[in-house]
Amino acid sequence: MIDLAALTIKSAREALKKGEFTSVDLTKACIEAIKEKDGDIHAFLEVFDDALGQAEEADKKIKAGVDLPLLGIPFALKDNITVAGHRASASSKILEGFVSPTSSTAVSKLFEAGAVILGRTNCDEFAMGASTENSAFGPTMNPRDLSRVPGGSSGGSAAAVAGDMVLVSLGSDTGGSIRQPAAFCGVVGFKPTYGRVSRSGLIAMASSLDQIGPFTKTVEDAETVYDVLRGKDPMDSTTIDDSTHAAGKEFNKTIGVPRAFFAGEGVSQAVKDNLDEAIQKFISLGYTVKDIELPNIAYALSVYYILVPAEVSSNTGRFDGVKFGLHADGKDGIEDYFKTRGAGFGKEVRRRIILGTYVLSSGYYDAYYGSALKVKDLITAELREAFKEVDLILTPTTPTPAFKFGEKSSPLDMYLADIFTVPANITGAPSLSVPNGSVSIEGKDLPLGILMTADLGREDNLFRAGKDFSGE
Ligand code: GLN
Repeated sequence: MIDLAALTIKSAREALKKGEFTSVDLTKACIEAIKEKDGDIHAFLEVFDDALGQAEEADKKIKAGVDLPLLGIPFALKDNITVAGHRASASSKILEGFVSPTSSTAVSKLFEAGAVILGRTNCDEFAMGASTENSAFGPTMNPRDLSRVPGGSSGGSAAAVAGDMVLVSLGSDTGGSIRQPAAFCGVVGFKPTYGRVSRSGLIAMASSLDQIGPFTKTVEDAETVYDVLRGKDPMDSTTIDDSTHAAGKEFNKTIGVPRAFFAGEGVSQAVKDNLDEAIQKFISLGYTVKDIELPNIAYALSVYYILVPAEVSSNTGRFDGVKFGLHADGKDGIEDYFKTRGAGFGKEVRRRIILGTYVLSSGYYDAYYGSALKVKDLITAELREAFKEVDLILTPTTPTPAFKFGEKSSPLDMYLADIFTVPANITGAPSLSVPNGSVSIEGKDLPLGILMTADLGREDNLFRAGKDFSGE
């Protein structure tokens, strides 16, 4: 019997190479674990019927001596990352019955690297949310405490890894949707620099912010997946290569801590103490940790909640009941459209469409959207200035540990869950959440994460510090 809890991508690859087990064995172990546990967790929406066939193909290659970075490794994908011939719904009713005719570039790259695509995971509808409670197919539970949320929007992908049903999964991160659930579930979550990973075939939320990235158990595994996914793609004109961002300064183990950003009451004492422990650990590892001022960073969340609805209102325009998925009949084309969108979109998506059309309307464009863009530039400049002095900016990943279902009753409360993760998205910076122990609440150990953000194109700094911190 394969012990999934004891495996990483790296150790599984070694075992596959040595013939200790096959990719079919590994894929079957994942499917068994899903059968056994996922009734309680609900991380998966579907296990693909061709997964074992893919594993057989991988085994043939392994036998023939082929060596690829992900050969034979089963992957779970967030339900907004398309795979040719398979359903993708972004956990929305509006994509009912939609089967993707093409694969996303990310998935094509996984296939080229030998991965087995196991199935798709639950998320907040169109990636809008921080708890996976906005899925049209019911919530996902946090494997560490089933009465709590796994975070979101990629909650299913985080829970699939944390629940030891798979060794690795992909999510998408527009404002924190990889890093926040990674912290809540106690796994590694990584968002690359904007443009590093192609968005082609990712069902769009806010195109100027969306990035695909991995959930793994180690920083090294996250780096392995990133090396497979990264690269310029003719299908996505926003993709970049190594030459786009200047190499910047040499890594000299310097970390900046913007204390004022997380000193407020909304941040739990356990989180503050946890970050202090992390700082001590970095110091003991020979890092220099200094306080820095980022006076405008606190506005990142407000900027985010103007830019995102604006882009959402535009991106969701294509769901008209004609081109994809659900269709509801009205008396004419216009009524079909209203009925389809009214029936197909959940509350949070509709809220953002309404907000988005408002901030883009001619009378309010300058006041809201235009101003948000200016503040975004201000924050970006502020961060880039900070990176002349420090290699990394360190904050907690989340203001609190995982919360209970229904606890965040107002949208604003839910939005605050991403206060520390959104600055990386609106500035385009790469950012990594690494587990840092847990806090005991009501008899359960709830994981906490620390968040490291680096300058544009400096994923290397994140991986170095992340590995140092995690003792890899
Ligand atoms: N929770 C944030 C939101 O609801 C982030 C979502 C994301 O990164 N996809 O917008």
